[in-house]
Amino acid sequence: MAVKTFASQADLADKTVRFDRLADGVYAFTTDGDPNSGVVVGENGVLVMDAQATPAMAQDVLRCIREVTDRPVLYLVLSHYHAVRVLGASAYGAREIIASEATRALVRERGQHDFESEVNRFPRLFRDVESIPGLTVPTLSFESALTLTLGGREVRLLHLGRGHTKGDIVAWLPEERVLLSGDLVEYGATPYAGDAYLRDWPATLARLRALKPERLVPGRGAALTSRAAIEEAIEATGRFITRLYEEAAKGVAAGKSLKAVFEESYAALEKDYGRWVIFEHCMPFDVARAYDEASGIEHPRIWTKERDLEMWRALRG
Ligand SMILES: [Zn+2]
Repeated sequence: MAVKTFASQADLADKTVRFDRLADGVYAFTTDGDPNSGVVVGENGVLVMDAQATPAMAQDVLRCIREVTDRPVLYLVLSHYHAVRVLGASAYGAREIIASEATRALVRERGQHDFESEVNRFPRLFRDVESIPGLTVPTLSFESALTLTLGGREVRLLHLGRGHTKGDIVAWLPEERVLLSGDLVEYGATPYAGDAYLRDWPATLARLRALKPERLVPGRGAALTSRAAIEEAIEATGRFITRLYEEAAKGVAAGKSLKAVFEESYAALEKDYGRWVIFEHCMPFDVARAYDEASGIEHPRIWTKERDLEMWRALRG
């Protein structure tokens, strides 16, 4: 097994940025497997979904936006609470920062722990970490659905159920049939499930799939522009999550330790998914959460810097 330390502490290479037009005024900011952002340009302003990790990194998104419009960013939408997607928020000067109620509660409850833990796990994803002014707190939140009109354009924000976190939302453009999925769907990238509801995630994906998007910006990986590629990405994400949970449930039922379940899950999943980016980074956290959920712990326990290290020690035995 190749796992030595947090796999991503040593991952320092910069990635290639793309800014692809998916429909009139709709763009995907993608980064070769790092967190993506989506951009929607309306008559009166711009909506951005997912801020990037730091204000310095958000400037990369803003530079791309400024190549296509000089309108202000009105709405910054947070797909969920993870630091790597929200802490660049201040760069946009948005009128509203929008998230689900559940995401707002999670920021309050565990945002600071998540910030410290994520920076420590994956320093490359927090370029110029000193530019972060503090936690990003949504200014507007909703329970299950919120429709925005951006000039003449409709953007529906939908909480389709628990999955990658308790509070994930997607942004759906019904006219253009474009979906910004956040981390509910990944493409060529390993789903991070350390804060997930693994048994709920497939049903949430089924609701997402029922929208029948024709373009999709996944949480990580290239923007998808065909129905076939979208189906494949949804299917592959769901299959990974299901297998991850089944492996853990099997081990828990047999009374095995976290270390044993991790080793067996890693061996079982590596063949099919080891080529996906951040596989090594995600697996310890994914298996730890799957093990908890299979043991009857409904809500993901808060990750702290200390718990990260404790888990690491347990896996190394
Ligand atoms: Zn996430």
